Amino acid sequence: MTNRLEFIRVKNFIDGEWMAESGAEHVPLFNPSTGEQIGEVPLSSKETSQAAVNSAHKAYDSWRRLPISKRVNYLFRLRSAMEEHAEELAFSIAIDQAKHISEARGEVSRVLEIIETTCGIPTLIQGETLEGVGSNITARVIRQPLGVFGGIAPFNFPALVFGWFVPFAIGVGNTFLFKPSPESPFFMQKMGDILNEIGLPRGVVNIVNGDHAVPECWYDHPKIAGVCLVGSTPTAKRVAERCGKAGKRSMLLGGAKNYLVAMEDAQMDVFIENYLNSCYGSAGQRCLAGSIVAAVPAIHDRLVERIVEASKKVTVGDAMDPGVYMGPVISAQAKKRVEHYIEIGISEGANLALDGRNPRVPEKNKHGYFVGPTVFTDVTPDMTIAKEEIFGPVVSVMKIRDIDVALELIRNQEHGNGACLFTQNLYYTEKFISEANVGMVGINVGICAPHPYVPFGGIKDSLLGTNKVQGKGGIDFFTQDKIATIRFSSPTGAFRDKRKGEKEGGKVSEPPAVRSCVGR
Ligand code: NAD
Repeated sequence: MTNRLEFIRVKNFIDGEWMAESGAEHVPLFNPSTGEQIGEVPLSSKETSQAAVNSAHKAYDSWRRLPISKRVNYLFRLRSAMEEHAEELAFSIAIDQAKHISEARGEVSRVLEIIETTCGIPTLIQGETLEGVGSNITARVIRQPLGVFGGIAPFNFPALVFGWFVPFAIGVGNTFLFKPSPESPFFMQKMGDILNEIGLPRGVVNIVNGDHAVPECWYDHPKIAGVCLVGSTPTAKRVAERCGKAGKRSMLLGGAKNYLVAMEDAQMDVFIENYLNSCYGSAGQRCLAGSIVAAVPAIHDRLVERIVEASKKVTVGDAMDPGVYMGPVISAQAKKRVEHYIEIGISEGANLALDGRNPRVPEKNKHGYFVGPTVFTDVTPDMTIAKEEIFGPVVSVMKIRDIDVALELIRNQEHGNGACLFTQNLYYTEKFISEANVGMVGINVGICAPHPYVPFGGIKDSLLGTNKVQGKGGIDFFTQDKIATIRFSSPTGAFRDKRKGEKEGGKVSEPPAVRSCVGR
């Protein structure tokens, strides 16, 4: 594996082998920083998807029977190998998806932390035992894997989503099919090599590239136990419907629209620093990106001044250039979509305080897909830009009366991923944590992304299916409980009622003459 930029014809990784999808249509892949073609991605056929299912199914039985210490040993090796190749992995993300190289490094290092957490699976997966639920009867709850899982990734976090799905799924004994986004497949091309390098048994993880047609055969497939996805809400809803009809479990993280609420006592410098990272990190293409600022009157005007001033200083350019703050959006189509939202904002009467369209970039990046920081003020809750996920560096600022209004606006949203509050006040803090109708809250942070030891996920339209990823949620989704009721007898086979036996000097007695639907 190298860091050189070379044309990549993306392949599938099936049963431990790299396979070119020769007969299939390939779609071109462009470097969003320059607009140059850097590769092509197959839209894999259903036969290929089926071959991957067969491989994962074949691998399942011996993989799940492997002693847990041996399975976890593969996770240790995975972590070490990824750390060794961290720079190449970061490079792969910074090229096809044009995530800024420093953020790409951050994403890879977060995945290492997630894998560290899953190395604790022998502890995390433990069940429960309760003795004496009846006479000489013990109840035991064990957690078992289910079989083959399919996972679908969005373009914006190819590595993180691998971390959310794969180490949890395989660590507890399942096997896995991974479909990267056709817009950011390079990370998983590196990962296939790493999986071979650590000697992971064939078929435990398969990678199939393509579009929505790849998972098409998963939903009704008897060999597939469940499907997980991170993507937009419309996609999550489609997958939820298919899984629901087929009776399959699903874990589906959807889109978002996140508030940053500033109270009168917010520390201005803290707010601005967090605002820049939250709203312009990954060019605003993050599910926890702040896209609405709601400020109370006492701070609103000063805050707008500081936001515009700081946003003007954000440098825009090549994602590989450590000297710039913000890279491009993912595609020419995404650029058009973001610009269209800017036009809608103008037409609906918001004030365009900073226009990010056609920002100045270096000559070599003139064909890249850039939108600069864009700030609307005087935004009202009924405007489209206040309601829909734009997924770009466009921020709407609203003036709100007080914290109750902020909470009401958050409650009325369709999405419910995250919301952050900036304050020093304990009352506001506790009220916000308790009442903000979202899955993740932040206090004096701009991105309220939970650490790997606890679950990550929203509510409402931001989470379809049953579970959140990582932490306990990740373990729960990829395991099913089995409850054993165990009666134990003396070696002669006679039933001993301990209490009666004690009373009768240890004599063996008959079982109680009560019939019950539960063990006694
Ligand atoms: P997307 O919905 O367009 O695609 C996501 C994945 O689903 C891709 O692999 C795509 O090929 C596949 N897909 C598309 N249509 C499908 C269908 N009908 N059936 C099955 N698979 C299908 O999303 P995207 O543009 O790649 O990613 C951005 C979106 O993901 C944003 O909405 C963002 O908020 C969301 N996201 C959410 C989180 C979270 O934690 N909630 C994290 C990251 C991204």
